Amino acid sequence: MDIIAVDNYLNSLNLPSFRHRQIKKNYYSGRFQSFLEMTDLPKDLRTFLQDKFPLLSVSEINLQTGTGTQKAALQLSDGLAIESVIMEYDQWITACVSSQVGCPLNCKFCATGKMGFKRNLTAAEIVDQIIYWNSKISPKYVGRIVFMGMGEPFLNWDNLLAALKIIKEDLNIGSRKISISTAGIVPRIYDFASLDTEINLAISLHAPNQLSRQDLMPIAKLYPLDELIKSLNYYTSHTRRQIFLEYALIKDVNDSSSHLSELIALLKSNDLFYLNLIPLNPVKGGSLPSSKMKVFTQALTKAHVNFSLRQTFGQSINSACGQLITGI
Ligand code: SAH
Repeated sequence: MDIIAVDNYLNSLNLPSFRHRQIKKNYYSGRFQSFLEMTDLPKDLRTFLQDKFPLLSVSEINLQTGTGTQKAALQLSDGLAIESVIMEYDQWITACVSSQVGCPLNCKFCATGKMGFKRNLTAAEIVDQIIYWNSKISPKYVGRIVFMGMGEPFLNWDNLLAALKIIKEDLNIGSRKISISTAGIVPRIYDFASLDTEINLAISLHAPNQLSRQDLMPIAKLYPLDELIKSLNYYTSHTRRQIFLEYALIKDVNDSSSHLSELIALLKSNDLFYLNLIPLNPVKGGSLPSSKMKVFTQALTKAHVNFSLRQTFGQSINSACGQLITGI
């Protein structure tokens, strides 16, 4: 059971609307471990809800703390597990949430792909990751969300939209503070453009030409790079918003001088493309980080393209991008 079920149930009870709002507000605050603790509710309602519903659809199996980052393994009601991460910055805390259990895309450099795909997360399981973190970091709150945990959010479209609605309306996190990363599910990029939302879009690019990209990311065979770029150009002309292109630099895979010049040409083709260069996070049995980071940053600076080097968090506890995996 989860808050969406509770919500539907409350609707059916014909409670006064202020009670309904009060329960939701309490729930989303993450300040309560159970309905019994919500002492602003009548006692019989508290015990009634408690008997009917466990509070969260995720429960902690394990919590690891690194410098500026924490990673939780969370169990779902069917026994499967996901990982969820927070990163603490000076001004805010960002939660990196999962959208699926495992991932069907199997990108070569990513640990999550190695565990295969188990199932989509429900909207409640997505939102409950944030509520879980709010309860952990009390009195602080999660202020930003990135959909960069396990899974491909654009392959869990309906639940993603339902979760976003709750995140915006009930958790009060504005669109500009939310980012969604996709490996390039082209039809959904058009759909996303049509939403006319201010939610940030990030694309896992990782290679500037079709051959290298499809070798790294099998999904590129289904949605080739030229079609992906076409959809991104559509998105930027329709929304006038920037797109963040993610590029993890991998030794002898995507770090040659021809990759570099193709990357620069691609970035120059659209003013609204913004590159996030990422040092590859090591994954067991996987590729190695490139030593050409400096060569790339110098050339990109010289070429006057928009880019930044992504700060890497959490390697010590394997909570960095592409390192999330659960053994179930
Ligand atoms: N499926 C979505 C969401 C996952 S986001 C997507 O692919 O965008 C995880 C981000 O981490 C993506 O940008 C992904 O490409 C990146 N990533 C995966 N493995 C990585 C690794 N080993 N090092 C650095 N970044 C990695």
